[in-house]
Amino acid sequence: MTDPDADRPGQASPGQSPNHNEKADPGTGANIPNASSGRPGSAPAGSGDGSSPRPILIYDTTLRDGSQGEGVSFSLQDKLSIAERLAETGIDFIEGGYPLSNEKDVAFFKEIRRRDLGHSKVCAFGMTRRRSMKAADDPGMRALVQAETPCTTLVGKTWDYHATEVLRVTLDENLAMIGESAEYLARHSDVIYDAEHFFDGYAANPDYAIETLRAAASAGAKWLALCDTNGGTLPERIAEVTASAREALAEYDVQFGIHCHNDSELAVANSLAAVDVGADQVQGTINGIGERCGNVDLISVVANLALKKKGYVVLGGRPLTSLTELSRFVYETANLQWRNGQPFVGQSAFAHKGGMHVHAINKAAKTYEHIDPASVGNERRILVSELSGRSNIEAVAGKHGIGEDKELMNRVLAEVVRLENEGYQFESATASFDLLIKRIAGTFRPHFNTIKYRIVAGDRDVSHNRAFAEAIIKLKVGETLWFDAAEGHGPVNALDAALRKALSGTYPELSRVSLIDYKVRVVDSHAGTAASIRVNIESTDGKETWGTIGVSDNIIEASWRALVDSVEYRLHKTDARQPEPDKPETVQV
Ligand SMILES: [Zn+2]
Repeated sequence: MTDPDADRPGQASPGQSPNHNEKADPGTGANIPNASSGRPGSAPAGSGDGSSPRPILIYDTTLRDGSQGEGVSFSLQDKLSIAERLAETGIDFIEGGYPLSNEKDVAFFKEIRRRDLGHSKVCAFGMTRRRSMKAADDPGMRALVQAETPCTTLVGKTWDYHATEVLRVTLDENLAMIGESAEYLARHSDVIYDAEHFFDGYAANPDYAIETLRAAASAGAKWLALCDTNGGTLPERIAEVTASAREALAEYDVQFGIHCHNDSELAVANSLAAVDVGADQVQGTINGIGERCGNVDLISVVANLALKKKGYVVLGGRPLTSLTELSRFVYETANLQWRNGQPFVGQSAFAHKGGMHVHAINKAAKTYEHIDPASVGNERRILVSELSGRSNIEAVAGKHGIGEDKELMNRVLAEVVRLENEGYQFESATASFDLLIKRIAGTFRPHFNTIKYRIVAGDRDVSHNRAFAEAIIKLKVGETLWFDAAEGHGPVNALDAALRKALSGTYPELSRVSLIDYKVRVVDSHAGTAASIRVNIESTDGKETWGTIGVSDNIIEASWRALVDSVEYRLHKTDARQPEPDKPETVQV
């Protein structure tokens, strides 16, 4: 398959630099200037004018702004693990939190100092000093200094209305608060000044909004990040105001950043618009998590800058192949559902269903894909359904090397039609479909055989005052009989636990597998008999996810079939070793 992005400047192409810690492969011709280029006052370089690509620094605030999102809560360990993942990906700035707000954030800054985050700089976040108080006496200011981070992000009021009505200070006192706070912090670290409500403030009183930036810049702030805090500004306005601010501050040695919220679903477009007029830093969160409609999704920002727009380089020119994994890691750590339709890294981002599309995809991937899925660590999925016809099935079958075998293809098609009549739907159960092809082709090798299973459900566990279920299963793995039991919150949970308990001795890789979704539907089978139950299960091993399906008139049996397929798929995928034949008929409990 051809690489549609091979001719893009400014970013290593996928596969060219497999080591994430390396700079861009010189073979790409990418010139990777250091972060201090792009001086103020000059025309934005690298906007497709043939000059060397302009580095756009990526500032992540998943751990602070992201944690304001509904249902998001990170433990200390979560925050540390996310910070390490961000550093591995090449994120330039990692905002760790607000050291005055809670003990967890204080502990984070203490602990993160001991970790090697490569070139990533950790930032502590805090507000300007309180009114009528010296910066050095303000506990918030002192907490920021005590965080001992190489960067401090200071947020201040831009909008005159907010200064007088929310802070209840005069406009001059607000300017003094910004300037004195920036000056105090600049003695200890680099200062990034976040101009809160900049675009709304500029609309209300442009002269005063610019004065607030001057207060920060003249006090030694290195960066001025313009915030669309309410997320309501349009891209053309972002570009116009950012350009004006940059011009007004031309005399200062300062760079600009952009911080967009997504309330109008324009955060990505707004961030790119600011970059085009000279912003050198984009602030946002992984997957766009954050308050209300969230912050800008840095995944999309990075992918667009590196793969789509010309003249920019991000993440120091590293390949973007870990983006999909990073996205999923953050969802899982935040305990949030993935967004299947998320651009670039979503499960459906490169999923093809329509038969004509699939037919074309088989011929040339570029016809229906805007980028090579592998360039962001994602993969193409072909969804199988009777709607899409023979092309889809051939595409999936091609992976098994049987695409040329017409007789086998006919048998697969006939079996799919038969199963769809029973209530099967393979669109989101491609792992079950893979196994189906193996079974028909005769290449399926069972890793275990079910002898029996039994469920005791609906009992009440008095000690925890909740209903629970027990599963008892008997399996044969090689020549060994395994007999195991497990408890769960419900019958499927208990069955899953017992199944993996019985197999984990032989197949330790199953310990990393967990169920992330379980769906039950009642379907009318076309055969005209009783209604069937369709169970869809989604599993993950932390890196990949796969869907399996089971259909039966009994919900437990349908669930069991989907569970068995999930485990078999994972074992086939890793080409699990055949268990050593043990002594026959040994019973292990
Ligand atoms: Zn924000």
